Amino acid sequence: MSEAPILQPSTLAIHGNRVREKQSNSILFPIHQTATYVHETVGVTKGYGYSRGGNPTVNALEQAIAALEGTATALCFRSGMGAISTLCLALLKAGDHVILSEVVYGGTIRLFRQVLENFAIEYSFVDTADLDAVRQAIRPNSKLLFVETPANPTMKLADVAALAEIAHAKGLLLAVDNTFLTPLLQDVLKLGADISMLSTTKYIDGHNATIGGSLATHDETLTERLRLVRKTLGTIQAPFDAWLTLQGLKTLPARLELHCRHAAAVAAWLEADSRVHCVNYPGLDSFAQKAIAERQQSGFGGMLSFELDASVEESLRFIDALKLCTCAESLGSVETLVTNPATASHCDLSSEERAKLGVSDRLIRLSVGLEAPQDLIADFEQAFAAVFGADGGAR
Ligand SMILES: *Cc1c(COP(=O)(O)O)cnc(C)c1O
Repeated sequence: MSEAPILQPSTLAIHGNRVREKQSNSILFPIHQTATYVHETVGVTKGYGYSRGGNPTVNALEQAIAALEGTATALCFRSGMGAISTLCLALLKAGDHVILSEVVYGGTIRLFRQVLENFAIEYSFVDTADLDAVRQAIRPNSKLLFVETPANPTMKLADVAALAEIAHAKGLLLAVDNTFLTPLLQDVLKLGADISMLSTTKYIDGHNATIGGSLATHDETLTERLRLVRKTLGTIQAPFDAWLTLQGLKTLPARLELHCRHAAAVAAWLEADSRVHCVNYPGLDSFAQKAIAERQQSGFGGMLSFELDASVEESLRFIDALKLCTCAESLGSVETLVTNPATASHCDLSSEERAKLGVSDRLIRLSVGLEAPQDLIADFEQAFAAVFGADGGAR
């Protein structure tokens, strides 16, 4: 028998591990909107007992994500935070220690500081771009290294392969929150991570329609442990949200290509503008860690941040003056979204804590969408004119 062909990502996203619906042959897998499943005879089911444990539509999404992650299966959750919470509760016990990137998502920081703290779980936030700092943070009771790269919103990178080596030498598991790049632009499991985590809310769905998360690992014992804890906590994805996410995922490779191209065009335009103080985008030659991006990523992504050569107040007025770019939290959708991290994702931190991370109060974060780049650039031009006047330092 011949081997199955190795499919390209754009094919995998549409056909990979596709689950067929046999009853009607509908081309789209149906939404199994059900709480429970009928026993054929007492105790005999077709593999589904109750939708908190598993659901066919959620399973179809899990198979599709697994095809992209290169794993036997994946698990989907009601939110990215549901995935992270389930992971922590499945792996950790009182007295364990976790090392996290100092820049992780705000919800992850809250999970440790305001919830897991009560269960005697120790944690340290470390600059995971600094390998020596990570080595020094490891304690005898350290169990998990949880890393986010690129960092939000500075885009600072951590070297996943080097971190995997450090973690494994001391018996820690490495989990990577790969929401910003997805397995298509950064294959963290191949780079040596044990667990890949995604907020499917972002690029996987891509249309701002759902909230969701996923976990994938090659460790089948860990997968079964995660499945048990998910069923116990009730953090599984809902059928309709899984179905919507499955439709979004089919165009992920095509969308990511455009996100990368548009972000590169916008970053180059901003950097060439004298009214812009600095631009953080891993694809720019000025980006200090560009070599790491080239080594571990297959694209530079759709996220960037920049500072205007202006006051905080003027920078906020600039955001308000944008018409096409929408000021809203979240990222990774077809719409270009703009935020001021100091007043949004990083508002829980003090000004000093933000400064230490390189998040100035005037920093602007951009999730570059699929609108034509020239229209986005025209939007920046009109916002510059609105805030600084028609002759406000033209190019
Ligand atoms: C949004 C996000 C999360 C949390 O995901 P939700 O789906 O909003 O719960 C986690 N990590 C990163 C990097 C995110 O952007």
